[in-house]
This record gives sequence, structure tokens and C-alpha cells, in this order.
Amino acid sequence: MKLKKRNLLGGFNRFRLMLTLGLAVLLPAAALIFINFSQLRAFERDKLLEAEIHRDFQERLALTEKKMNKKAYAMVDDARQMFPSPDSDAAEKEDKLDVILTKNPWLAHIFLFDENDAVVRSQTGTLSDKTIRDENERILEGYHSWFPHEGKSTVENLHKKPQQILFSNMRTKRADAPAYLAIAYFVLPDVASGRPVMGGVCFDPCYLQQTFFPGMIEEQVNQTPAEAGGNRLAMMIYPTDSDEHEIKPMAASTGWGSGNPEVMRKMDDVFRGLTLGIKYQGTSVEALAQTWVHRSLLLLGFLSLLMIGGLVLTKRVVSKEMAVARLKSDFVSNVSHELRTPLALIRLYAETLELGRITTPEKKQQYYRIIRKESERLTALINNILDFSRIEAGHKEYEFRDTDIADLVHNTLDSYRYQIEQQGFEFEESIDTSLPVVRVDREAIARALVNLVNNALKYSTDEKFLGVKLYRDNGAVKLEVADHGIGISRRDQSKIFEKFYRAGDSLVHNTKGSGLGLSLVRHITEAHGGEIAVESTPGSGSKFILSLPLAAAGPRGSVSGTVQL
Ligand code: ADP
Repeated sequence: MKLKKRNLLGGFNRFRLMLTLGLAVLLPAAALIFINFSQLRAFERDKLLEAEIHRDFQERLALTEKKMNKKAYAMVDDARQMFPSPDSDAAEKEDKLDVILTKNPWLAHIFLFDENDAVVRSQTGTLSDKTIRDENERILEGYHSWFPHEGKSTVENLHKKPQQILFSNMRTKRADAPAYLAIAYFVLPDVASGRPVMGGVCFDPCYLQQTFFPGMIEEQVNQTPAEAGGNRLAMMIYPTDSDEHEIKPMAASTGWGSGNPEVMRKMDDVFRGLTLGIKYQGTSVEALAQTWVHRSLLLLGFLSLLMIGGLVLTKRVVSKEMAVARLKSDFVSNVSHELRTPLALIRLYAETLELGRITTPEKKQQYYRIIRKESERLTALINNILDFSRIEAGHKEYEFRDTDIADLVHNTLDSYRYQIEQQGFEFEESIDTSLPVVRVDREAIARALVNLVNNALKYSTDEKFLGVKLYRDNGAVKLEVADHGIGISRRDQSKIFEKFYRAGDSLVHNTKGSGLGLSLVRHITEAHGGEIAVESTPGSGSKFILSLPLAAAGPRGSVSGTVQL
């Protein structure tokens, strides 16, 4: 039955070890592998996402260009419908063209070419500006240089186009800054296709830059809702031949900030020579990807830390188990030694007495005393071992009874008084006899006291002093056992209550012991709802303070429990 229990306990320890190993190492390792694996997939997904964002950007730019073209075509077509007949006289043509200019302030110039002449008109009052005058003259020069030869074929081609409008552009200046002049050529409605008649309008560069482009871009950006991540789009337009390291926007949506676009689209058709650009406001797709990578790294770092923590924990558990195993083997050799020594002494003295060699009564008395003392030591040791094994197996039971604790302590000390004095100890006993009745297990409390007193005797060398105090302290009864012995280092103080633990001091190892006494004392104290503390300075002594609560000094009936490590 006992063996079975022990196996069960051993099995439980192994199970605990496996559980710790599993939780502390395997779990984080598995999580790490899993995260790594999904990270790889996430990387691929992020790459796809990046490509997707670029594709989406391209589509947005294409749509923006389409909308700009559509609007430009419509505006030009409106003006085209108002054009005078090529057959009206020069003055009438000029008047009608001027009316169109007035009605459409977005125009810079307007012109009408036919087989006989060309009329080029500019917005009233603007011809005082030399650049604008130059533009006007260049249009007229154009008429003279190419229209007579190519006008007819150009007009024929225009007739074949669905919108009958063709766009071209010219680099110019406005207020000393480079500007973009868009020119639209078209055939006039109701003019026979064989006849070389062509009309045209020029978009005012300032209108394009300040009104048309910003308006169109802004509209597009605003139509796109902010993405899930809260990133908003920004768009701009710039001359295609700009220095790519220093792209200066001709027009941009609010929130463009600075920097180059993420995706560009060279415009064709209407605004050839200009490029549209798009990006996220304040961030780039690369930066976003960086954030994803950072997040992954952080996660990996965290998991690695978890794993290191697991390893450290496992190492601690394993070394603790190993230490207990080592202590157990020390215990076996200590205990066998401790059993053998008193037994050998008892046998030796008993044999000597039996042989009748001792004649003086004093000598006989001395031998009897030694036999009694050694058998008492044996009993104490065996009691400790039995108690310990009961506690380990969970069978230890306490019998709590109303007790005069002062009496109990005094009587227990009485049986030791002689031994204490024999060993040359100065003994100081201070017991408060007016203490109330306390419910305790008498045998257990006596054993705890005996263990503490025995230790005080064992671990004192030069200065032999033993002090036992029993007093009331607030709601508790305190039992103090003090010595002026070798003391306990701070490091050992927290461990001496563990089973089998013996301090590494060589003085301790020269003293017999099993490492069970204090673990029993702690168990007994805790079973009474109390606590045990130690105050000690190496070299000058120790004081053990066992305190038992007065009110709830031990539950009624009996309890059982196990020593906690
Ligand atoms: P042991 O059988 O070794 O005395 P205990 O559990 O009673 O086992 O004590 C554990 C250890 O605590 C001892 O080995 C010793 O190192 C230390 N110790 C206990 N009491 C004292 C004391 N009064 N003075 C110095 N060291 C002590």
C-alpha cells in the first residue's frame, strides 16, 4: 500500500515535470513554428497586397485621366458649337470668336483657319503680355507654314475621329514660370469634309494649373473613401520631362505634402506631356510593408523570449528535482549513520553492564543515563522519519485539544533540562503562565519544540546559550528558541525549511542530521494556522519564532496535509 502511494507520488512528479516541459518549451516552440510558417505566408500575402495596391493605384490614375479627358472634350465641344461659319466675313468671324472668348474665360486663344485666311483671337487685354502675344503669333505662323500643305489631310483625318477633335500642346510661360498650353483642333460642324476648314481653342495655362487640374484631382481623391488602415490618397500632376529626383507638382490634391509619387501614369491624348502621380498621404506602400515586417519581428521576438523563459523555467524545475534527488541520497546516508551511532553506543554500554564489570553505582548510573539519552535520540529520529513519511503520503493527522500551552512547553523542556545543563549550556527560560488555553496537537507542538531545541544544541560551538521564551503577542502565542551558535547565512535562511535541506557549512556537515526537523516544524506550525520565522546572523546565533494564532489555533477535529516544498 505504501509502495503504491510512493509510486503514485513519483508519477505525479514526473507528470509535473513533463507538464512544465510541455508548457514551458514545447508550447512556445510549437507557436514559434506555427507563427513562422504563417509569417511566410503573410509575407507572400503582403507582397501580393503591395502589388494589388499598385494595380489599384494604376486604375485610379487611368480613371482620373479618363474623367479629365471627358471634361476637356466636352468643354472644347461647347466652344466648337458656337463657332462662326467659315463663309462669314472677317469682321463677323472676329466678333463671334470674341464672344466665345468672353463666354469661356478658361480660353486663352481661339482660332479659325480656312483655305483663304486665318483668324486668331486672344482674351481681351492679354495681348499686352509679350508671351501671350508670342503664342498668338506662333499659332498664326503655324497656319502659314503647314496649313496650306497639310491642312486638307489633317481635316480629313479629323473627320474620321469620333469626336472630331485633336489635342496638342505647347510649352510656354506664365509669370516667368514654365506653363503648359493645351491646344484643341477640330473641324466645324456643318462644314463639308472635303473643305479645309479648322477651328481651334487654347486652354488658359493658369486655368489648367489653378482650377481644372486641382479640381479634378481633388474630386477623385475625395471620391475614394479612406482605407481600413485609415490611409488617405493624394494625387498630383507634373510635366513628364521633370527631373525624376525632384518632381515639382504642377497641381496637387491637399495632403500631398512632399516626395515622389508611388505610382505614375503618363497621360496620352488630351494632356500629353503631363504625368499623373498617386501615393498615400504621409506614408508609402514600402513604409506600410515595413510596418508589417516590424510587427512580425516583434511577434517573433516576443515568442523567442517566451521560449527562453520556458527554457529557464525548465532548467530551474529540473535542477530543483535533481537537488531533491541529491538531498534524498544524502538523507539516506545521514539517517543510516544517525541510527547506527546511538545503537552502537546502547549496545556497548548495555554489554558492559551485562558483564558486570562496572562496580561503582555512580558509573552504573552514568551508563544508564547514556543508554536512555541515546535511545531518546533514536526515538526522536524515528518519530521524525515516521511523521515525515506520513506527511509525504498525506496521512498525517493532528489531534487538536484545548491545552495549557505554558504547561506543555515547560514539561517538554523539563525532560531536556538535564541534557542541556550537562552539555554546559546556559539556559534561559521565560514562560508567560497567564496565557489562555489554546487548541493544539500536544505531541506535534512538543515535537516542534524538541526539534528547535535540538538544533540549538547541535549548532552551537563556543558560546553555549539556549533561550526559550513563550509569550503573547497581539492575537498570537509566540514560542521563541534562541541560541548563540553558528548562525545561518541569508541565502540558507529561505531554504532550511525545505525537506532534506542542510546548509552547506562544513560545521553543519560535521553535525549529525537528516534535514527533516525544520520541514516538520513548518508543517506542524502551518497545520495550526501559524507561521515559523527565523532571524539569524552567521557567527552570532539564531532565533526561531513559532507563532500560533490565538483565536483559530488549529481547526477542531483532525486534519491531514503534505509538506510543501
Ligand atoms: P538537521 O537534521 O540537519 O538539523 P533541520 O531541518 O533541523 O535538519 O535543519 C536544517 C538545517 O538548518 C540544518 O542542517 C542547519 O544547517 C540549519 N539549522 C537549523 N537550526 C539551526 C540553528 N539553530 N543554528 C544554525 N543552523 C541551523
